[in-house]
Amino acid sequence: MHERWLDERHHEHYYKLAKKLDYRSRASFKIMQIDDRFNIFKEGDSVVDLGAAPGGWLQVAKERVGESGKVIGVDLRPIKPMEGVTTILGDITDDNTMLKLLESFGGKADVVLSDMAPNIAGAYATDHARSIHLCMFAVDVCDRILKKDGKMVMKVFMGDMFPQLKRELEKRFQSVKVHSPDASRPTSSEVYVISKGFLAKTVVDLKPIEPQEKKKEFTKKGDLL
Ligand code: SAM
Repeated sequence: MHERWLDERHHEHYYKLAKKLDYRSRASFKIMQIDDRFNIFKEGDSVVDLGAAPGGWLQVAKERVGESGKVIGVDLRPIKPMEGVTTILGDITDDNTMLKLLESFGGKADVVLSDMAPNIAGAYATDHARSIHLCMFAVDVCDRILKKDGKMVMKVFMGDMFPQLKRELEKRFQSVKVHSPDASRPTSSEVYVISKGFLAKTVVDLKPIEPQEKKKEFTKKGDLL
């Protein structure tokens, strides 16, 4: 009971702060706190944000990379227009969306962000598996678009498949750290993985990704067909 009360107070605090400071979501404070601690953004950086709606992280990224920076957000849900930010409506697990992202970005990114979350089923194992599935697509985006020495910040719901995901990240980055910012709810199973020093060793042939009418392997929610 006490834990729930603390959780609600915490939620309320960041909710009010977001309203007061004109941020689109409480999540803005998570990426601010992560950036303050891990130095993710630099002026002029190019940033890709996956799972960007309603746009709280986009606002913070844009503020921190400044006028000369480039920010693009992708989400299944529409994102209200934001000055200086490009958005793509689509599912990142869909090849068409991946192609759109590569085409509109037109170059390599300094930072890949992913705050993607599956629809919560309420069953711990299912939510974890779906979250890992989305994370692997975010890792794929890094392989395709991240510059050498680039950085990645990614949300994951903790569970028994996490060590496999971490190993995939350790193959690709010089440093991989797990962190829970103060703005995350104390009772949440979400953590953020901060990876730095992208090695750009993974050879990715961009050609096999062709636009497809239908996805074959997974549903939008990440369920195996
Ligand atoms: N970072 C955002 C902000 O600050 O406003 C909040 C992101 S919200 C926690 C998670 C988002 O992930 C949802 O908007 C959801 O639509 C998106 N998402 C989930 N699966 C996705 C997918 N396959 N492709 C693109 N976006 C996805």
